[in-house]
Amino acid sequence: MSTDSSDLSARIDTTRPHSARRYDYWLGGKDNFQADREAAEAIAAVFPHIRTAARENRAFMQRAVRHLAAEAGVRQFLDIGTGLPTADNVHEVAQRIAPESRIVYVDNDPLVLAHARALLTSSPQGATAYIDADARRPQTILADPVLRSTLDFSRPVALLLVALLHFVEDQEDPYEIVRQLVAALPAGSYLVLSHATFDPLDAETIAAMNAINEGIKPTFTPRPLAEVSRFFAGLDLLEPGIVSVSDWRPGPGPRPGAGEATGYGAVARIP
Ligand code: SAH
Repeated sequence: MSTDSSDLSARIDTTRPHSARRYDYWLGGKDNFQADREAAEAIAAVFPHIRTAARENRAFMQRAVRHLAAEAGVRQFLDIGTGLPTADNVHEVAQRIAPESRIVYVDNDPLVLAHARALLTSSPQGATAYIDADARRPQTILADPVLRSTLDFSRPVALLLVALLHFVEDQEDPYEIVRQLVAALPAGSYLVLSHATFDPLDAETIAAMNAINEGIKPTFTPRPLAEVSRFFAGLDLLEPGIVSVSDWRPGPGPRPGAGEATGYGAVARIP
């Protein structure tokens, strides 16, 4: 991977909205630009719960990692579609429970790469690494020497595809991508997946959101429950199965109403 700074700034286009920076804005982060904020506010104007939805997705990821580290003994994590560093990234959640946890982050956004140093703050007992790569090329990720030297593929790995696959279009075959990644992991590994959906929204809101997202890259493809379920074909879903991210093993405290957290989430064991 190239981290040359002139190279990197040439890859960062701040004039057009970008998914990672827009999500960062909804989460209350600072790593976003005017174009991202405008696109984010436009979505918030037609779907005011978008910030809740973003926060609920992030909280799902953290509960899933906590569960896998604390209850399932998982010590290795492959997080594809990492996002910009924010509070409680995967390694912080996992290493708080098991300092020896090893994490590989993967994203294709140059701004995430530019901020990767904040993700590489491992505990001394564990390890973190970052790979600048595209999820649509799973074999490139799997063959990366950094991945191979950080994770031991003879032991269970938790694969995180959290709020990623709605950026992979049908014609790019997201099911085949997941199949190839899952096939590379040993039995006893896990898949943590969340995915945006329009299922709880009315037709008017959907039309307004589609109009705003028109032309923004990467293309946004929310999927209905039946299509999200196909990602888990052949895997053993942990309780409570595929549910709204807010309803996956929630902690105490209030939960948003149906239709506020517009994402499905689940964790499955790879047999
Ligand atoms: N997983 C994090 C961030 C989700 S935002 C969380 O749930 O909190 C989605 C992330 O996926 C962004 O950082 C975006 O840059 C990344 N992404 C989108 N398409 C990608 C692709 N084809 N390859 C790698 N990363 C991608």
